[in-house]
Parts: sequence; structure tokens; C-alpha cells
Amino acid sequence: MVPVAVVETIAELRAGVSDPSARGERIALVPTLGALHDGHLALIRRAAEVADFVVVSIFVNPLQFGPTEDLDRYPRTLDDDLAKLEPLGVPVVFAPTVDEMYPSGPSQTRVVAGEVGSLFEGNSRAGHFDGVLTVVTKLLNIVRPGVVVFGQKDAQQVYLVQRMVDDLNFPVTVETVPIVREPDGLALSSRNRFLDDDARRAAVKLSASLQAAAASAHLGTQAVLAAARSILADEPLVKLDYLTVVQPQSFLPVDDDYRGRALVLVAANVGGTRLIDNELITLS
Ligand code: AMP
Repeated sequence: MVPVAVVETIAELRAGVSDPSARGERIALVPTLGALHDGHLALIRRAAEVADFVVVSIFVNPLQFGPTEDLDRYPRTLDDDLAKLEPLGVPVVFAPTVDEMYPSGPSQTRVVAGEVGSLFEGNSRAGHFDGVLTVVTKLLNIVRPGVVVFGQKDAQQVYLVQRMVDDLNFPVTVETVPIVREPDGLALSSRNRFLDDDARRAAVKLSASLQAAAASAHLGTQAVLAAARSILADEPLVKLDYLTVVQPQSFLPVDDDYRGRALVLVAANVGGTRLIDNELITLS
């Protein structure tokens, strides 16, 4: 196995991608916060299918964490991450320090996520998506990939990145990978490691609520919401943040009589850990 080259500086990263770029190879970027699990690995496998040269970035971006959020507690497991990447043949991991990314302190110039950026995740986490889009912009400018790969797990993030790419004409294709789940349905997340046994048992209610929602899709929006809510209300450890049904093209809530494809979004605090999940349904 070829060891993964860990690159910490922007200058080194640019030098590292200059040869494959010059050879006309397609470069894929997979941005992550690290603490890698099989969901991340699915993104990386997809990246290897659609490109010749894969760069994985591992950077816990302070700009996307609010002052009361889990920035300090967020798991940082670079050695374990590299051990997971080596068998996949990833040539380069970009793991910059905060100083390398923000040498003059938090970025003054930021990308503003707009209306959808202040809903749902953005409503609960003020400024989160501005921070995400700003760091994604920086990473795209540093790596200059032809394709950037994101997980459907963070549906609102994918939507906003695609909107940014379209609105601002970034020369990159956004590739999306379906949610990878545990056998019982729980969506994989770096934060799942914070769940104790009781919270882990309760956490499965998120995906169960989405399955109940999907099973009621033929009965309309209100029935979908009621079905999901009844599963979540059953579990005292689940403190619901939001449950909503959005139109995939606008990411705005659908009307009661809406018909067609829709995304059910759920976010909850489960025993002290914030989890999100979503499911594509067809309201008929
Ligand atoms: P994160 O490190 O949590 O920022 O995630 C990095 C990327 O992995 C994002 O594009 C996520 O949507 C994606 N991701 C995280 N968990 C999953 C999952 N369970 N299935 C698919 N993609 C995921």
C-alpha cells in the first residue's frame, strides 16, 4: 500500500496537484471534518470512480461552528483517519492548521448563504452555512478540482453548495452520494460516538420516523409529518429541533396539497448530541 501523503500547507498542496493537473487528470475533492467513517469512505470511493486523482481534506473549520457549539469537543483522529484512507489508495490528504487557512484570523470576506441558509440547520446554527460556503470556496480555490463530492446526509449543505456553484459560476461539478446507514437505519455520523447506550437506542427513532413518513407519502404532507412526529414523540431522549418537508428544487417547505418529490428533514438533540437525517419521498 502506498502511504497517504499528508499535506499541511496550501503551497505544498498546490505543488502536489500541479502534476496531475498538467497531465490533464480530473481531480476530485472530498471535503471532511475528519473522524472518518464508512459514510466518508463512500464519498471517497465515488470520487475515485469519477476522477483520476482524489484529494481528501480534513479540517475542522471554526468558521462553521457557533460560540456555544462543539468545536473543541469535535473528534480529531488524524492517525485513525489515515489508516482508513490508505487501503483506498488516496494519494493526498490536505490537513491544514487553522492558522494556515485563516492566517489573519477569521476570514473577513465571506460567502453568504442567503434565504435557505437561514432556515432549518441555519436557523438552529446561526452563521453555520456562511462558514461552510466560505471554507468550501477556499478549498475549491486551493485544490481546483473538476468535481467535489458531498453526502446527501447533509442535504441542506449539498443544496447550498450546488446553489453557490450555480450562482457564482464555479467551474466544478457537485457529486452527491446517498446516506450510508447502520444496519438498524441510524445514519452514520462522526457525532454518533458521543451517544451512550440509551441515546444510541433512542437515536434510531430519527431514521424510523423518516421511514414512517415515507410510508404515509400517499396521504399527503400533513399525514407525513404526523407519522414522523408520532415516532419521535414516543422517545423522551429525543428532543426534536425541526421536522419539515421541503421541495428539493427550492428547499422551501411544501404546501399541504403539494404532489411530487420532496425531502423530509429531521434534526434532534438525542441525549445531548445533535443529529440530523433526511429521506427523499414522493407525495402522491
Ligand atoms: P463531515 O465530516 O461530517 O463534514 O462530513 C463530510 C462529508 O461526508 C459531507 O459531505 C457529509 O454529508 C458526508 N457524510 C457524512 N456522513 C455521511 C453518511 N452517513 N452518508 C453519506 N455521507 C455522509
